[in-house]
Amino acid sequence: MKRFMQLFLAIVLTLSVAGGISPTKTSAASFIWPAGNENHVTSGFGERSSGTHYGIDIAIPGTVPIKSSAAGKVSKSYYSSTYGNVVFVLHNIGGQTYETVYAHLRSRSVDVGQNVAQGQLLGYMGNTGNSFGQHLHFEVHRGTWNSDKSNAINPMDVLNGVFEDTPPSDTFKVIKLDSDQFGLYSKMGTYKESSTPYLGWTFVVKQQQIYNGERWYLLVHGDKVFGWIAAHQTSEYENLEKKYLNEDVDAYNYNLDQKIMTLNSTGYVYVAKEYSDKYLVIAHSQPMYIAKKLINFDGQYTMPYKAVKITSDAYGINSTPGVYKESSTPYLNWILISKEQTTYNNQKWYKLSNGTTVYGWISGNQVQELPMKRMDLTVDTKAYNYGFKEEIMTLNGGGFVLVIGEGNDYYHVAAHSQTMYIKKTLKD
Ligand SMILES: [Zn+2]
Repeated sequence: MKRFMQLFLAIVLTLSVAGGISPTKTSAASFIWPAGNENHVTSGFGERSSGTHYGIDIAIPGTVPIKSSAAGKVSKSYYSSTYGNVVFVLHNIGGQTYETVYAHLRSRSVDVGQNVAQGQLLGYMGNTGNSFGQHLHFEVHRGTWNSDKSNAINPMDVLNGVFEDTPPSDTFKVIKLDSDQFGLYSKMGTYKESSTPYLGWTFVVKQQQIYNGERWYLLVHGDKVFGWIAAHQTSEYENLEKKYLNEDVDAYNYNLDQKIMTLNSTGYVYVAKEYSDKYLVIAHSQPMYIAKKLINFDGQYTMPYKAVKITSDAYGINSTPGVYKESSTPYLNWILISKEQTTYNNQKWYKLSNGTTVYGWISGNQVQELPMKRMDLTVDTKAYNYGFKEEIMTLNGGGFVLVIGEGNDYYHVAAHSQTMYIKKTLKD
């Protein structure tokens, strides 16, 4: 038990990890810098005071050729009032579609439909559109670009070293550090001094890459990124098992002396290790122990998540796309989570669920997609059901949620496997 005292929470909002990982694998150097290198990055990916920055800015003076980051086909090449002269390139890497965006160009050298090689000239760095000073605004989307930029990923994650997407079995890779004599790395191969003894800590791996012939892991704990470590310094928890909760279950810290959360009966957890009377599970934003009251899950877990509101239930919900399922339930205005979408008869369809309950399929013209915003939890936060009558969960400080709406004193959150309300104690 003693060594567990050092263990820290590792973990994972299901939404974020599953969303950040795709089932494909590549072995070649998939992405290269379109211009310059990390020393020329003037603004990184993520939140900034003016809103979310869905790419990185690379600034270099003079005449600077912009190269295609990977081989692909030019999907757009036009002038926009915001992007200025912009080129989009679609890539297929190991079966996974990516789309890269090159904005604020002085001029464009390619046309829509043109195939481009990795490193091929797309245009020149400029200062067009909503830009203040010459720079390249570079975006990478796993999947295609959309106006919500919901597929945007941090370009830095794919530009360093040889990129390898994590296969699905590694979606929830949990590792223990067996050796920290070399510390953690700010990026692969670059030692980062630290006074924290990481030995014995358990982390979740969000991303892996091969660098210098060795596998490296990007370690996270809640929404905190700790850095990279070489695989030979770690050991892996094998066979994470997805299990559903069949009743409300209390979760405890490693010493079993503190209850840290009550998990709602309609949720699920990933079990990392099993003892005679408890499971070590990875769920939400902490690893924890819960009493053995789970049932097995044997389905497929699919991304990406979308939150949708039903704006018309004239055709009800369908058991499969196009196959009407009679129902006496009025679904109008319900907000449900869609983990899976498909196209049927030229129409987008959403598979709807709430917690672990699957409702069925509905066509895109009956729903409205709700934008989601990621927010950090600064303190432990209680979550309630829609009527505010029942507390269904306590969310741990240090985690995060995806907000789909807000009232005067609460946020409406789509998180984990449920939609719920929580009090306004979050920060942007
Ligand atoms: Zn930018």
